[in-house]
Amino acid sequence: MAEVLVLVDHVDGQVKKNTAELLTLARRIGEPSAVFIGGNAEAARPRLAQFGAEKVYVVDNADVTGALAAPLAEALAAIVEQSSPAAVLLPTSGVNKEAAARLSVKIEGGLITDATDVQAGDGGAVQTTQSAFASNYTVTAKVTKGTAIVTVKPNTTPPQASQAGATVVPVEVTVSDLAKAARITDTQPKAKSGRPELTEAQIVVSGGRGTGGDFSPVEAFADTLGAAVGASRAAVDAGWYPHSNQVGQTGKQVSPQLYVACGISGAIQHRAGMQTSKTIVAINKDEEAPIFELVDFGVVGDLFTVLPQANDAVKAA
Ligand code: FAD
Repeated sequence: MAEVLVLVDHVDGQVKKNTAELLTLARRIGEPSAVFIGGNAEAARPRLAQFGAEKVYVVDNADVTGALAAPLAEALAAIVEQSSPAAVLLPTSGVNKEAAARLSVKIEGGLITDATDVQAGDGGAVQTTQSAFASNYTVTAKVTKGTAIVTVKPNTTPPQASQAGATVVPVEVTVSDLAKAARITDTQPKAKSGRPELTEAQIVVSGGRGTGGDFSPVEAFADTLGAAVGASRAAVDAGWYPHSNQVGQTGKQVSPQLYVACGISGAIQHRAGMQTSKTIVAINKDEEAPIFELVDFGVVGDLFTVLPQANDAVKAA
């Protein structure tokens, strides 16, 4: 069975959920091998083994580590040359999409970005599903030439465990002078909110234009539930919340167990980022708001009245 390379998304060896999702998808089309860039691969190994990685290619090279795409593409190309995989799967992100495009040129493989599903198609071709036009259309695509390179959106596949060996294979990579021409010299740590990361959270409480810029009841409820805070684009465009918290077509895609939309109308571009959530609750003072078409539970009311009551009720429970 051909190998399928999965680029590991991690912070100092702590493997993110999207990697478990990609390893789950990789098992459908071949034998998964993880590609770990950076130090502390030992910390990552148990989780990579748990989700089926037979091998872990480790590139611990200062020229590659960091967020630049060109050295990453060269590292991936070196591993592709060594392993001749059927496919390379990367978690969708700006840097990874650039690296995937560069890799596709280097190895003359077919590239698909933002897939929401990956399967083995006819004749062993790698087949993907993508959502287009704010989830109004589902596109099925196949890679017909070379190694398939696919970036996959997070939160689209439930991770399924399957124990494997996760044998470490160190890889020496020589990065070209051109790829080394730009380096990251400094990174600013993100302000720590103490809340879970939006795309990994089990519960997300989001606020929209209906907050009028006051997110305090949204944040208080989120903190009681141990949830992440999301925002609609209207709230982000108004400067009330950072873009990194935006949910939707041009923001992040979330798929938590519980999504609570507060003062959000439910525009199609917002739905594109949250409609796969397991349970959806909306609080909106307009009973005709489109968000009520897709909720499991809806509360018609003013969020400044409903949220504090809900908060007190959860705390008392
Ligand atoms: P509104 O549509 O103005 O809705 C506010 C809601 O709050 C209303 O339903 C109102 O009844 C309710 N409300 C008001 N006061 C209260 C109160 N006190 N209590 C309870 N309810 C109250 N949007 C996104 O969210 N994410 C995206 O990624 C995104 N990408 C886009 C990409 C493109 C190309 C385009 C064209 C648009 C995109 N949008 C996106 C914008 C989207 O079309 C909507 O404009 C946006 O989602 C509206 O945000 P909202 O629901 O907060 O505001």
